[in-house]
Amino acid sequence: MEKKGSVFVISGPSGSGKNTVYDGLCLRDDNIAQTVSVTTRAPRDGETDGKDYYFVSTEEFFRKVDNDEFVEYVNYGKNYYGTLKSEIERLRNSGKTVILVIEVEGAFNIKKVFPDAETIFLVPPSTQELRRRIAGRGQNSDEETEIRLSIAVKEMEQKDKYDYCVVNDELEKCIDEVYKIIKK
Ligand code: ADP
Ligand code: 5GP
Repeated sequence: MEKKGSVFVISGPSGSGKNTVYDGLCLRDDNIAQTVSVTTRAPRDGETDGKDYYFVSTEEFFRKVDNDEFVEYVNYGKNYYGTLKSEIERLRNSGKTVILVIEVEGAFNIKKVFPDAETIFLVPPSTQELRRRIAGRGQNSDEETEIRLSIAVKEMEQKDKYDYCVVNDELEKCIDEVYKIIKK
């Protein structure tokens, strides 16, 4: 039985494959939708405002904080990221299965606001593979890659607090496993 309007959080270190897995879920099921977050980071090549993120200045971000527009927000690396209350409401009201692809601090804050939300942590097969994937994506400088890898170590320490941990080694197998959790 499908959980319409239910909320799932997918976390995992940068490069663990969260967005790739999310894309795979969408190919299997068009009732799944991801909240679009607000960020102060610059768009990467190929990213679109309003689709991948709402890209804003730091001033605009903190205007939204002051207006109480976020259900959660964090500082990650050198930037801020936040989930809008309106995004979750919009998707829940349309009966979609709502997926938040966010880092660990945000995931635990979402769980406080939506206790029924289920949390899934994507585990990379190894640190070497994680480094290879971040570098292979070609979107981060060496400095950014190192920051992301050091955040990854701290994120991995939190993985046992998640409802589910799924290793993203073989992509299709990982998507199958996450999809089974969502459809349970
Ligand atoms: P995240 O959203 O967690 O930062 P991405 O989805 O952007 O990670 O994936 C990082 C890189 O790793 C991308 O280039 C993606 O194609 C690749 N990737 C993701 N999953 C796998 C996998 N199972 N095997 C090999 N490469 C993968
Ligand atoms: P990236 O810069 O790679 O797009 O994202 C960096 C990290 O921020 C990733 O772990 C991503 O999942 C997380 N992230 C993206 N949007 C949000 C958000 O709205 N809230 C939180 N807490 N984390 C987010």
